Amino acid sequence: MQIDKCKIDELRSMLATPQRVLILAHTNPDGDAIGSSLAWAEVLKAEGHDVTCVVPNRYPYYLDFMPHAEEMVIYKSDEQTSAKAVRGADVIFCLDFHTMSRLDGLSELIDENQHAKRVLIDHHLDPMEDFDLMFSYPKASSTCYLVAIIVEQMFGAERISRDMAENLFVGMMTDTGNFAFSSVTPDVFRMVSILAEKGISIPDIHNNVYNSFTEGRARLFGYVINRKMKIFHNGTVAHMSLTAEELKRFWFQQGDSEGFVNYPLTIKKMKMSAIFTEHNDFIRVSLRSRGDIDVNVFAQRYFNGGGHKNAAGGKSFMTMEETLKFYEEKVKEYAAEGMLK
Ligand code: 5GP
Ligand code: MN
Repeated sequence: MQIDKCKIDELRSMLATPQRVLILAHTNPDGDAIGSSLAWAEVLKAEGHDVTCVVPNRYPYYLDFMPHAEEMVIYKSDEQTSAKAVRGADVIFCLDFHTMSRLDGLSELIDENQHAKRVLIDHHLDPMEDFDLMFSYPKASSTCYLVAIIVEQMFGAERISRDMAENLFVGMMTDTGNFAFSSVTPDVFRMVSILAEKGISIPDIHNNVYNSFTEGRARLFGYVINRKMKIFHNGTVAHMSLTAEELKRFWFQQGDSEGFVNYPLTIKKMKMSAIFTEHNDFIRVSLRSRGDIDVNVFAQRYFNGGGHKNAAGGKSFMTMEETLKFYEEKVKEYAAEGMLK
């Protein structure tokens, strides 16, 4: 992949003198959000900038192993440090999200800083436009891949350290379902090869990300598939739900339900899957689809959300029962429009 040279030059001039840099990623940060933030922070620190990474809430426990993850500032548990970093920033990088609404309460704090330059580095569809510089590449399989390409073009691949390689690999692996999605291009593997040369242990990373869950998570998974998966629309659409009571019963920790939504798609005829998870004041919606079926549009239209064509999310403010009924109705409407073919 090639990034427009003018944009790289613009970025270079923005960073020509030492800056106070704020790196932001989305709520419920995943491997791609954390990996891209940490890798980009490491590059900028090496360039002499003063860098702080802030995320709205905590990342899942199974990402604790990521190099320098402990340096991430969590807005929800450290508002003071977050506010200081936001107010003092000269340049704000927004990584792995495309609209300020993905920052939840943190977006109000960001609004207070009107002097900083804003730069987007992201791969979601339909980005907001109010950035001074935009690296928006919806075809890129992950933001980590984008960051790797930007670093390669700006400084050369030799600038990628082992820690950076590990962080970038996590996001590239998790956002592509282990390099299995259609977004994966030959150039992704070229970049993987560069990262592998840095001495990272791919089996260790894989184990840390996918085989480090709690017992509660394994039991919750069994429960949700066995008891809570409803298959309808002629065996082609599924939904699952988890209430706050159920989450408590299985000692739920943030991140435990990550990946559940993909499982119905292992059934041969399945085209679209959803999981609804109850939070304090809303229900988190997570959607997945196969092939041409577009859940980004579905999430935008019905759940005030968005994402990618085959993986999107949003929120519902109805009860769980109403939400499931609403989902089934909207699936029917979507099918009637020919959107589930
Ligand atoms: P997940 O289901 O893994 O939480 O999210 C899948 C994709 O949808 C991610 O790329 C994520 O950024 C996006 N997404 C999840 N929730 C929301 C939301 O509430 N709003 C928007 N615009 N995108 C979301
Ligand atoms: Mn991503």
